[in-house]
Amino acid sequence: MAAVMRFDTPIQFIKGVGPKLGDRFRDYGIQTAQDLLEWYPRAYEDRRAARSIDSLQANELVSLRAEVIGVSSYNLGKSRRKVWDVIVKDQTGRIHCKFFRVPYKGYFERFQTAKNGVAQKVRVIGKVTLYRGNLEFHHPDLQEDVPDALSDDDVLIPIYPETEGITNRALRKLIGYVLDTFERNPDSRKPDRIPRWILDEQKLPTRFEALKQVHRPPKDATPEFAEMKSAYHRRLIFDEFFWLEMYLASRKHAVSREPGLALLPKTTQVDALVKSLPFALTGAQKRAFSDILADLTGHKPPKPMHRLIQGDVGSGKTLVALMAAVLAVENGYQVALMVPTEILAEQHYRTAKRLLEPLGVNVGLFTGSLKSAERAQGEALLRSGAIQVAIGTHALIEDNIDFKNLGLVIIDEQHRFGVHQRARLKEKGVAPHFLIMTATPIPRTLAMTVYGDLDVSIIDELPVGRSPIQTRVGFESHRAKMLDFVSAQIAKGRQAYFVYPLVEESEKIDLKNAVEEYEKLQAHFSELKLGLLHGRMKPDEKEKVMREFRDGMYQILVATTVIEVGVDVPNANIIVIEHAERFGLSQLHQLRGRVGRGEHKSFCLLMLGYAVSEEARARVKIMEETTDGFVVAERDLEIRGPGEFLGTRQSGLPGFKLANIVRDVQILQAAREMAFQVFIRDSKLMKIEHKPLREELLRAHGPTSLAAIG
Ligand code: ADP
Ligand code: MG
Repeated sequence: MAAVMRFDTPIQFIKGVGPKLGDRFRDYGIQTAQDLLEWYPRAYEDRRAARSIDSLQANELVSLRAEVIGVSSYNLGKSRRKVWDVIVKDQTGRIHCKFFRVPYKGYFERFQTAKNGVAQKVRVIGKVTLYRGNLEFHHPDLQEDVPDALSDDDVLIPIYPETEGITNRALRKLIGYVLDTFERNPDSRKPDRIPRWILDEQKLPTRFEALKQVHRPPKDATPEFAEMKSAYHRRLIFDEFFWLEMYLASRKHAVSREPGLALLPKTTQVDALVKSLPFALTGAQKRAFSDILADLTGHKPPKPMHRLIQGDVGSGKTLVALMAAVLAVENGYQVALMVPTEILAEQHYRTAKRLLEPLGVNVGLFTGSLKSAERAQGEALLRSGAIQVAIGTHALIEDNIDFKNLGLVIIDEQHRFGVHQRARLKEKGVAPHFLIMTATPIPRTLAMTVYGDLDVSIIDELPVGRSPIQTRVGFESHRAKMLDFVSAQIAKGRQAYFVYPLVEESEKIDLKNAVEEYEKLQAHFSELKLGLLHGRMKPDEKEKVMREFRDGMYQILVATTVIEVGVDVPNANIIVIEHAERFGLSQLHQLRGRVGRGEHKSFCLLMLGYAVSEEARARVKIMEETTDGFVVAERDLEIRGPGEFLGTRQSGLPGFKLANIVRDVQILQAAREMAFQVFIRDSKLMKIEHKPLREELLRAHGPTSLAAIG
């Protein structure tokens, strides 16, 4: 006799699943009954609104029924990229369904052209794309249209994400069974963890009700429902945001309770630094510094600063950071400036030495490649307090590094620097102040989630007199002209970057591409010296090539996307980006920031590959229109959505199942407000109705998250 199913019942024990199908589910991260219920539909097919092919218009999200009349694959232009093409027709016309990657092995084997005169029926759901004057689908949801146990009044049919070996129909059936079982046994469900007062205030249904409805849309579902905008969807989306915001709110709350180091507003040295510069600060730099000054000196009792400075490449963040460093030193504290690579550490070290030593501030460099004697000496000077500003890589957070009185930690280009490293550094000081600098402009909505526990200053103004980088989009037909242009600039003494995209399918191909192209370019520019930089090289090899390029040993650097963030080669004034359509806009913007760092007029040439869709072309064209990183970021986020925009892995953002930061920004704001409200009402989460919140923090983030709030 099977035990009663609970939310945590392993998937294989659910009736009708078993070990084999259970393994399939686990491949998709579905481990339990609860996971299954959280395997949300990614769209709904509206049976009332099935479309005919001749009625389609560009950019509509539609569903239709059709027959397969062709399945084939071919290479895209001269490239190695394969396109799969499934052609379907209905009574009114035909349309191509194109795939640029294979969803899973055997995917296309499911589709055949007519056999014995019987055509295969399919359902197509997806966005209509205009490509070279034709309408087509790119990566639609394509499913066999098997006879189904739908009743006539089922109008919205949930479409689940593509899963190998599990049909949409089987999923609907299984999820329906699980829902029915829980419906009959309320006690075996997981209780709703969101406090009643929040549900009331936000007019949200219970979680179980929401789960039931999104998997089995009501007969009278409105069009909003199909667009994931019903109250039920809102509830589930709210939950995803709420748990994230609870964590951020708890961190922010914890930080505000920590005792910080009190600094006095002594700015004699800072003023001296500013006076020594050959230029005036921009308004934005002044504002950012006054935010910092207020954080460091304006709180009673003092609390640690956790501030993020966001500013485009070249906006002068380093200088603001050095001003903060000088303020801390004048107050008798040491400063650690951390960067992701050795070459950046050396660059900052040189700048800091030049600007700070005249003020009598001692600067030290700490990297992994120092000889052990040098290193031991540096460590001793740090321990005695003789080194006041330590600049380095990860080497700065190693165990044997001790500061005498670390007061301020500055982290540059923090995208490559995790929360954990921040925590490690913190262990070295009492509760040092944190200043984090990033050149990846992030739209405000996203900053709110990603950096939810930080205060943000924005440097949205470039120093005057910088001539903007001129950006042009080019096609294969412009190649000869482009190469001539590069030659002419190099003849004037300049240097150039050529960047190639990573090819997803295989690192090997990727490497081969860069090497092949490097050889081709070397043959073309036979008089010049070219350097090559790719992801397969070891970090020290990469740094060596970067250094040699900086020192002028090469006129051209051929690279995959590994060109180091923030590296300054002022003499390089051209960047050619091949297959620009394969990059996100923010990434293009970052790459573009490699040039325009010196006195020379700079150029960014974006080369498009063969067979690029109108959409991709229009997207890349945005780069010609603006050099403002925030504008680029907003557009990029709009176009690609948050997951890809940030790359979930490096952003530390949880993978949302249903929520979409762009589409659901209002729900995000509501969730954030509620999470912060919780701490205002009950700062230690002691009330009985908040017990589930406490438990969830503990489960997801460990005991320290609770200890921090009290
Ligand atoms: P970021 O780190 O924001 O990319 P940097 O701090 O490296 O930018 O500054 C880029 C260049 O601009 C540096 O050479 C710096 O000396 C210079 N710079 C900084 N602030 C100003 C300013 N207010 N006016 C003119 N040049 C500036
Ligand atoms: Mg910088």
